[in-house]
Amino acid sequence: MKSKSFKICVLGEFAVGKTSTVARCVRNTFSEVYLTTVGVKVDSRSLSLSADQEVRLVLWDIAGSNTLDQVRTNYILGAHALLLVADGTREPTVATALGLRDQAQVILERDLPSVLMLNKADLVGEWSVPLGRIREVEHELPIISASAKTGEGVEEALRELVKALMP
Ligand code: GDP
Repeated sequence: MKSKSFKICVLGEFAVGKTSTVARCVRNTFSEVYLTTVGVKVDSRSLSLSADQEVRLVLWDIAGSNTLDQVRTNYILGAHALLLVADGTREPTVATALGLRDQAQVILERDLPSVLMLNKADLVGEWSVPLGRIREVEHELPIISASAKTGEGVEEALRELVKALMP
C-alpha cells in the first residue's frame, strides 16, 4: 500500500504535553515523568483512512518555547500541518500556542492546516479554559479537548488534521 507522508510540527509552551501526545499517538503509552525535550524529536506512525488507504504522519516534537527562534525555525521548514498543544489547566498556554501558529505561518509564508489540542482534560477539577470561550470560528481551527494521559481526544485531533490535509 502506497501512503502519503505528512510532516506535522507539534508546537506549544513548556510542559503542556507535546511529548506525551506524541507518545500516545505513536506508542499508545503515557508516563508521569517529565523529561524536557532538547531540540527536536521525530517519530512517525500511520493512520488508516479506509481498508486500502493510509497516511504516514511524521510528528516533529519541537522543544517548548513561546517563540520560534532561529533553530526552531529550521525545524518547521517543510511542515504540512501544525498540531498545537495547550494545557487546559493553564489558560495562557492557549494564546502561546496560537501565537506560535502565527509565527510559523509568517516564517513559511503560507497558511498551515492546524488543530488546537486542549490537553489534560482528565484534570477536570483544575480545568481553567472554558471551551466555549476560545472561539473556533475566530481562530479558524478546530479545538479539541483531549488527554494524552487517558488517550481521550488524541486520535480525533489527528483525524481532524488529516481531514484538513486531504479534503
Ligand atoms: P511537553 O514539555 O509539552 O513535551 O510536556 P510533556 O509531554 O513532557 O508533559 C509535561 C507533564 O505533563 C508531564 O509530567 C506529563 O506526565 C504531564 N501530562 C502530559 N499530558 C497530560 C495529560 O493529558 N494529563 C495529565 N494529567 N498530565 C499530563
